[in-house]
Amino acid sequence: MKRKSGWEIWDKKTQKRVFDFCEGYKDFLSKNKTERLFVAGALDKGKNHTIKPLDTCKKLKQGDIFYKVNKEKVLVMGRMGAKPLKDGCKFIVSHVDSPRLDLKTNPIYEDEDICLLKTYYYGGIKKYQWLTIPLAMYGTVVFKNGQKREIVIGEKETDPVFCITDLLPHLGKDQAKKTIEDGFPGENLNIIIGSIPLKGKEKEKTKENILKILEETCGIKEDDFISSEFQFVPAGKIRDAGIDKSMVLGYGQDDRVCAYTSMMAFFDTDKTPYTTFCVMVDQEEIGSRGATSAQSEFLKYVLEEVIEKAGGKPSDFRTVIQNSKAISADVDTVIDPNYKEVSDPRNTAKLGHGVVLTRITGGRGKGHSIEPSAEYIAYIRDIFDRDGVLWQPGEIGKIEQGGGGTIATYIARYNIDTIDCGTGVLSMHAPYELISKADVYSTYLAYKSFYSAKK
Ligand code: MN
Ligand code: MN
Repeated sequence: MKRKSGWEIWDKKTQKRVFDFCEGYKDFLSKNKTERLFVAGALDKGKNHTIKPLDTCKKLKQGDIFYKVNKEKVLVMGRMGAKPLKDGCKFIVSHVDSPRLDLKTNPIYEDEDICLLKTYYYGGIKKYQWLTIPLAMYGTVVFKNGQKREIVIGEKETDPVFCITDLLPHLGKDQAKKTIEDGFPGENLNIIIGSIPLKGKEKEKTKENILKILEETCGIKEDDFISSEFQFVPAGKIRDAGIDKSMVLGYGQDDRVCAYTSMMAFFDTDKTPYTTFCVMVDQEEIGSRGATSAQSEFLKYVLEEVIEKAGGKPSDFRTVIQNSKAISADVDTVIDPNYKEVSDPRNTAKLGHGVVLTRITGGRGKGHSIEPSAEYIAYIRDIFDRDGVLWQPGEIGKIEQGGGGTIATYIARYNIDTIDCGTGVLSMHAPYELISKADVYSTYLAYKSFYSAKK
């Protein structure tokens, strides 16, 4: 099976569309680096499409477009199609959390006159990649009276940034002998927050001063950290990469590339034959356990409400769900010329060769794979080919090399035909991930094809 890259196939006009689409993509991801911000940003975009809260819809009819938010971190958007709900719905489910550094419960301390914050890393990161780079701080603090404060420091040109130090090579003799796991302990991921002491204080003078600044500028006291969510992420915008500007380099593209492209496809596909859903969940990177994860019953509740408001009975749920189709929209790997040995070149996706359709996500004996049926794969390749979507099959690495799970399991367990389909990424989970613009655009077209398909 020989496939060509999008750049080889597309004419100048299409290439321009690819570049234009990615301008919006870069801007949106640069502004929405947390799950809360992404959900709020998506709803803000939805205003142009007259999307309404599901709670305010008394009855649902063809063409209605609605949303429901769960705890500011999960978004379900829906559009009523021409066919009855019992014919099934189309779901595209992505996740909007990304690997990052969170603060520990009691984070602030002083050591050697420097004030630091203890972090707990969120998701599967290679810890050394997060040292010595400029970090921005995103915080949501909730006070005992329920009031909230949103804090962002490090994104404006005039803002300070934060960082974690690394050992100088001159003194790195022992460190160099260690494994990556031992050489970079999680307990060393401490962020420097300041270094000026408070005059006239006896103990912990720098910590006292930083707490004073935090209270003055952010209105928070040390105790307030316990009911807060602080995330540290790479500071700065998502950028073009390569002299031909063919790629995008930046933070959080796993999985916000699929969230963004599915959101745009959802907004841009009106008059759908089937009822369509664009779902964005949280907590994928830590195993999908909580109330805002893909394992939560939230999506089920939303669907029950939709069935009821469209005039159906609660027992219709089973029929609706069994006739539905889903895409688990998450990123996959592409072959890395520097690390070819981990991939099977015949079965790994290539950069710029289109959206990736993944049959097998898990490693070894297909561990944790959902095994989409041949029938469902035939359906997907047929609609993609009809719509001229640039797509390619892909798997995550060689059999014994590892593998990775996605939220596909939690959709498939409802008895919905589900397949993993998303964008290929280089340096996945690094502070700066690399993606081809051709693949971003192909992902968008694939999701549009899925939403608009007549079958
Ligand atoms: Mn992901
Ligand atoms: Mn991931």
